[in-house]
Amino acid sequence: MSRAKVVWFSESGKPLKVFSLRKWVITLFFGVSLLLLILSLVLVFLNRIYLHRMEAAESENVELNRRIAEQKEQIRSLKQSVASQNKSLAEFKSKLRESEKELQEIREMEIKLRRFLDLEHKQSLSEKHSHQGGFQTDGDMDSVEIPMDNATSKVQNSEVVSYSLRLKQSLREVINSLEEKRERLHRTPSILPVKGEDVWLSCDFGRRTNPMTGRKEFHSGVDVAGGYKTPIISPAKGRVTRIAKNRILGKTVRIRHRKDMRTTYGHLHSIAVKAGEHVERGQVVGYMGNTGRSTGTHVHYEVVKNGKAMDPMNYILDRKGETLSLR
Ligand SMILES: [Zn+2]
Repeated sequence: MSRAKVVWFSESGKPLKVFSLRKWVITLFFGVSLLLLILSLVLVFLNRIYLHRMEAAESENVELNRRIAEQKEQIRSLKQSVASQNKSLAEFKSKLRESEKELQEIREMEIKLRRFLDLEHKQSLSEKHSHQGGFQTDGDMDSVEIPMDNATSKVQNSEVVSYSLRLKQSLREVINSLEEKRERLHRTPSILPVKGEDVWLSCDFGRRTNPMTGRKEFHSGVDVAGGYKTPIISPAKGRVTRIAKNRILGKTVRIRHRKDMRTTYGHLHSIAVKAGEHVERGQVVGYMGNTGRSTGTHVHYEVVKNGKAMDPMNYILDRKGETLSLR
């Protein structure tokens, strides 16, 4: 049977309608209906998936916005930190320049002192930094714009420290040398070894005719005449090395001032120090007299350097010319 009948029920009172349809038409009708139903179901399913994804995307968006806000805050605080560190770095640089200036001035003073004291000029201080004998801050320092990496400033800082340490050491040498020189000056005869105003030179240093024998001889010191028992003083710091009674020089005192320098005082009336005693400049060591081979009250004053008799007048800096003339 290839046909089927379809009865159409209409409103009451109207006759029934009967359609005679071919069987494939009915099959087609149901097939299409089924297909539409499946299609609708698929669409509903897809719609649900889409909605779900939308929701997920929305919540992800919220999270991303939160993170962006967080990172903005971080950037703001980092910027603040950079600004404050830039400020600190600028302050540090200015302090460093001040220190460099100070050190440079000290260095110049040190060089002057060394020149004055005839000390060897220390190259080592300026060798590393040929920049006017100092060290360099410009260039390296100015190129540091981001203070986050402050390695450069650390290096610079340690250079300042080591420079000042070297300078300190060098200055210590200068001070030591000054102390040595001061000690040397203390130990160099520099005043008339006679305490009294009314004194005069009775015999010069050098070749002379001996007043006792009438023969030519070498006078190894100077004779200073004055009142009987005029105090005789040490012209420098030293140590008494000899006290003697000599046939020619009479009562004598010898003082060793330095390794290479000693003085002797002859014809003394009496001696005021003991052998081995330390004496200071100006200290009384004896009194003027006439002992030994002598024609009158005077002191024979000798200065010996490196075993050689020197002219004592060159070691009398407080009395010159008319105040100690030859009579
Ligand atoms: Zn003499």
